[in-house]
Amino acid sequence: MIDFRLTETDRAQLERTRAEAMICRRYARELDENEEEMIPDTLPEADDFYAQAGPVPSTGPEDTQGPVMMLLQTMGHYWGDYSVRLKRPMRGGLGNAALAAAGTEEQKRKWGDLLLSMAITEPGCGSDPSRVATTAVLDETTNEWILNGEKIFVTTGIRAHGVVLWATIDKSAGRAGIKSFLVEKGTPGFEVPHKEKKLGIRADDTAAYVFKDCRIPRENLLGLDESIPKASSGGFRGVMKTFNMTRPLTAAMGLGIAEAALDATREELEAAGVVLDYTAGPGGLGRLSAAAERFMRLEALFEASKLATLQCGWMAGQGLPNNLESSVCKAHAGSAVRQITQGCIEILGAAGVSREHLFEKWMRDCRITDIYEGTGEIQRLIIARGLLDYTRHDLK
Ligand SMILES: Cc1cc2nc3c(=O)[nH]c(=O)nc-3n(C[C@H](O)[C@H](O)[C@H](O)COP(=O)(O)OP(=O)(O)OC[C@H]3O[C@@H](n4cnc5c(N)ncnc54)[C@H](O)[C@@H]3O)c2cc1C
Repeated sequence: MIDFRLTETDRAQLERTRAEAMICRRYARELDENEEEMIPDTLPEADDFYAQAGPVPSTGPEDTQGPVMMLLQTMGHYWGDYSVRLKRPMRGGLGNAALAAAGTEEQKRKWGDLLLSMAITEPGCGSDPSRVATTAVLDETTNEWILNGEKIFVTTGIRAHGVVLWATIDKSAGRAGIKSFLVEKGTPGFEVPHKEKKLGIRADDTAAYVFKDCRIPRENLLGLDESIPKASSGGFRGVMKTFNMTRPLTAAMGLGIAEAALDATREELEAAGVVLDYTAGPGGLGRLSAAAERFMRLEALFEASKLATLQCGWMAGQGLPNNLESSVCKAHAGSAVRQITQGCIEILGAAGVSREHLFEKWMRDCRITDIYEGTGEIQRLIIARGLLDYTRHDLK
C-alpha cells in the first residue's frame, strides 16, 4: 500500500532542506540578472550552515526512503531556487544517471565521481532523439572512436567534468546504431563554444558543445556493447530507460517552484485579509471570495501533480516498471506548474509582474518543466501509446 505520510525524521530532513533553500533564495534574483556570471561552487554561508545544521538525521525502516525522499527533497531545494545551491559540485548531473543506468561496473568506478552532463539534443534533433547526427567512427588501428558533431542546450554543460553524449555508429541502422559515449573535458577536439542565453533558469550553465575529430578510447562506449541489433531497438530502449527516473525528478523540480509561488501568494492573500476557509464544504462555497476559490483550485492542482510524481518515485523504489507513470507525472507537472505560477500572478495583479518579487521569475523558470526530458506533447504521445498498446510506428 502506498503511504506518503511523513515521520518525525522525514520532517526533520525536510526542514533542513527548507533552511538550506531559504539561504539559496537570497541569491535568486542576483544570479537571474547576471546571466553571464557563473554561480560560485559554494555560497559564503555554506560552511556555517552545515556546521549549525549538524549531521543529517539517520533514518530507520519506518522513514521515507529512496526515490520518494529524493523527490521530496528536490521539491524543497527548488522551492529555494531552481539554479542556486549552497554547495553545487556535490550534485550529480544527468550524465551521472545515464552512467548509472548503462555503464559497466568498471566504468561506474572510473567516472562515478565526476560531474557529468548529458548531451542528446542537436540543432536538427530534439524531440525525436533517434535523429542524432553526431557520428562515432571506430579507428581499429588505434582502438579509438572519432567523434564529429554538435550538441546544444547541455545542462551543467560548463561546470561538468565530462559528458555522456549520444552518437550514431551506423546511420543506416537508425535507432539501433545510437550509442552513449563518455568524453572527459580537456579531450582534444571537444570544445565548449558558449553558454546559452535563456528565458528562465538563467543562472544554470546550459552550454553548446562541438566535437571535431575528437578521439576517445574504445572503452569509453558506455556498456561496451558495439553490436547493432538491426532487428530490434532493444539497446535504444535501454538508454531511454534513464528517463524513468529523470522525468519524475524534472517534475519535482518544477513543483518546487509552484510551491514557492503558492506559499508566497498565500502570504499575500492572508495579509490582504482574504480568508482561505478549507472547511466551507458544500453549500458554504458562497462564503469564499473569488480570489480564495481560485487559489484553492491551484493548490488542488499542485497536490494532484505532487501525488502523481511521488507515486512514480514509489514505483521506482519498489522496482516496478514506471515508464507510463514517469510520463504521466512529467506531462501533468509541466502543465500544472505553468498554470499555478501564472494563476498566482493573475491573483496578485501588479505585484505578480513586478521584479520586486520573484513571481515573474518563477513563471519564466518553471517553463522548462514542459520542455526538457521530453516536451509535454511527447509525454502525451508516450502515454497514449502505453494506454492503447500502440507502437511508435502506429502513433507518431
Ligand atoms: C534550458 C534547457 C536545458 C536543456 N538541457 C538539455 C540537456 O542537458 N541535454 C539534452 O540533450 N537536451 C537538453 N535540452 C534540450 C531539450 O531536451 C529539447 O529542447 C527538447 O527535447 C525539445 O526539442 P527541440 O527543442 O528540438 O524541439 P522540437 O523537437 O523541434 O519540437 C518543437 C515543438 O514541436 C512539438 N513536437 C515535436 N514532435 C512532436 C510530435 N511527434 N507530436 C506532437 N508535437 C511534437 C514539441 O513538443 C515542441 O513543442 C535542454 C533544453 C533547454 C531549453
